[in-house]
Amino acid sequence: MTILSDLHQLLGADGLLESGLDRYVSEPRGRYHGRPLAVARPGSTEQVAELVRLCSKHRLAMVPQGGHTGLVGGGSALDSELIISFERMRAVRHLDTVDASVVVEAGCTLAALRDTVARAGLLYPLSLASEGTATIGGTLATNAGGNLTIRYGNSRAQVLGLEVVLASGEVLSELSPLRKDNSGFDLKHCFIGSEGTLGLITAACLALKPQPAQSVTAMAACADLERGLALLKRLRARLGETLSACEFMPELAMQFVLADQPGAAHPFAKPSAWYVLFQADSAIDGQGMEAAVMDALAHAHDEGLIDDAVVADSLSRAESLWALREGISAAQKHGGVSLKHDISLPVARIPAFLDQAQVALAEAVPGIRPCPFGHLGDGNIHFNLSQPEGMSAEAFRALEPDCNRIVFERVRALGGSIAAEHGVGLLRRDELQRGQALKVSLMQSLKQAWDPQGLFNPGKVVAATSRKAEQGGDQASA
Ligand code: ZN
Repeated sequence: MTILSDLHQLLGADGLLESGLDRYVSEPRGRYHGRPLAVARPGSTEQVAELVRLCSKHRLAMVPQGGHTGLVGGGSALDSELIISFERMRAVRHLDTVDASVVVEAGCTLAALRDTVARAGLLYPLSLASEGTATIGGTLATNAGGNLTIRYGNSRAQVLGLEVVLASGEVLSELSPLRKDNSGFDLKHCFIGSEGTLGLITAACLALKPQPAQSVTAMAACADLERGLALLKRLRARLGETLSACEFMPELAMQFVLADQPGAAHPFAKPSAWYVLFQADSAIDGQGMEAAVMDALAHAHDEGLIDDAVVADSLSRAESLWALREGISAAQKHGGVSLKHDISLPVARIPAFLDQAQVALAEAVPGIRPCPFGHLGDGNIHFNLSQPEGMSAEAFRALEPDCNRIVFERVRALGGSIAAEHGVGLLRRDELQRGQALKVSLMQSLKQAWDPQGLFNPGKVVAATSRKAEQGGDQASA
């Protein structure tokens, strides 16, 4: 029997696609163009387990895929690999409002889960621009971050348990909602953020939070980011744990978004260098939140931290302020080619990083237009570089390795990370090796132990072990 006929027998006509694969192949940044063998769409955990055993028998590489919104090629198949899509596994298996937990399958979209639990008065506190398409399995495999990390942590922090299909085809089922369980190694954390290289997450038990009863969104204008960070400190002191998001964007990003969104208006009569967007929420009913935000902003203004501020007076006004921030990625096309870096830094070092990196970049590429924005509260910067006016797209793209070196050198020197919330995938795999030999070798030995045939998402995050390559070499010469 051929691989395809075996797959067909297991999955049926609905479960195996051999043509029309465009939407599983094309990815947001158009970098990867593999030709997968087919797309498997299993309908149950048992079927995923059978599928893994079958692929193991045929030594067929498997690429798990959620909503395929990732930005580093983690869900992209290379030639002749099998994509495993979880889109037919989207059930919310069990919602427990007493325990405030939910068991959900990997293919459920983030938006669908948030809607489902909201109807029960609960919140799944992960918010991403791509939440209508991104899936729970994908967000866990990449440990997605997003806008609410400052208060609730990343995806990892929400997980109580996982169901994972292992390379052997066995199912590790730990979907208990226990908040305390110190019975040995906490293995779920190895799978979370492993980008599908160690096992296939088929379901998760997630902790939920109370749905906010009052929410205030505001944007402040700042002359520089030292003031922006002083504002963050003041907001945290005044609003405590109710501060749920604190984002930042420069005037250049505002210009791109205004060019991209015909109905949008600049929130301020006079532009400033930076804008800080923040949101405070409380599950306690009442109106106290708005007064606290007004008070914090009045003090910040008196201290010279902010030039101006707007507080949203309605839900639609709040949404339009958020649309300015969420629209940046799509709007950057108005600046031509954008070289993107998803980095994080200790929050206090953000201004130093921006100063150093921008000076070095301007020397290397005169006219380059940095457009740094993102999550001020947790130090995650989308450090994107727009092409100089007058330079061709090809010439600018050719400078990407030089720009990367400048950016990542400074990130490392200041104690940051070269892969903050998007993951490593193919895009940052080789960069990850630099200066982290011990960490990468531990990752490779875990990969070797848990996926000895190397069939789970090969080449992503870590390359095959050098030990394995040497063994191959020995065999070839023997
Ligand atoms: Zn982000």
